[in-house]
Amino acid sequence: MARKTRVIAVANHKGGVGKTTTTVALAHAAAAAGKRVLVVDNDGQGNASTALAGAEVADVDTPSMSEVYDKDVPTKTAEAIVKTRRKGIDLIPSGFETFDRVAQAITSWLAPYGVLAAALEQVKGRYDVVLIDCPPAMGYVTINALVAADAVVIPTKPDSFSHLGLSRIVNQVDEVNEQLRSSNPIPDPLVLITDVDARSTKRAAGMADEIRAWAAEAQIPVHPDVIPRKAVIGTTTEQGMGLDEVQGATAAWAAGIYTDILNTLRKA
Ligand code: ADP
Ligand code: MG
Repeated sequence: MARKTRVIAVANHKGGVGKTTTTVALAHAAAAAGKRVLVVDNDGQGNASTALAGAEVADVDTPSMSEVYDKDVPTKTAEAIVKTRRKGIDLIPSGFETFDRVAQAITSWLAPYGVLAAALEQVKGRYDVVLIDCPPAMGYVTINALVAADAVVIPTKPDSFSHLGLSRIVNQVDEVNEQLRSSNPIPDPLVLITDVDARSTKRAAGMADEIRAWAAEAQIPVHPDVIPRKAVIGTTTEQGMGLDEVQGATAAWAAGIYTDILNTLRKA
């Protein structure tokens, strides 16, 4: 039986804000809850791919996101799916060094924004949750993710002016809704404040308050919890493991936050 799938895009045009960490942690949170998960590595850097499936995934001679996006290589989406370290989590790997060239070529498609949505239609009924990790840019492949998504999460760090960046993404989601999804708009993105350094609690809290104040004004939801900067979060997800798979109270607590975020996104 086809599953009722939730497609979640993780996007922000800034790099290093925790997109990949969020994607991998949410994938594990879903798998830990017994969900069938597909991670789509929609970024040429391929960090989610190497984390979840090992460095050798960059070398394998099977289709990847590059072939999914390349109209000269007719590819069934199922052919691009690989297994990961964890049962329950499948992956469409990044095309790594070919990805940016192919992503550039999408501009010559007649319908350049719906390629990923169409590709996912072929397989998404097999999954409960599809998570799309995006590159640090709001270009064609990120718009493809927004067109395919049922929900969007925007990880952001509590640095100064981050709310200015947020307004750019929120505007872009509005434009996608107006121009490409008028009959089926995506709900407002969920902002997730990540990588909060406890050693600069006051400053970080001030920035987080600034983001919350901006979001309240713009009527954009912000998740009530913040993701703290903790070595266990960075290293566990970089190794493609779930926070539920490692020992320790901090990991268990962080795993709980991601489960909560996932539940929010599944309802949004
Ligand atoms: P992006 O995908 O947006 O570029 P990443 O998720 O790769 O960002 O995060 C950038 C770096 O910060 C990575 O090395 C990651 O391990 C680290 N990092 C992200 N979030 C946390 C956190 N909450 N605690 C510790 N390290 C983190
Ligand atoms: Mg990344």
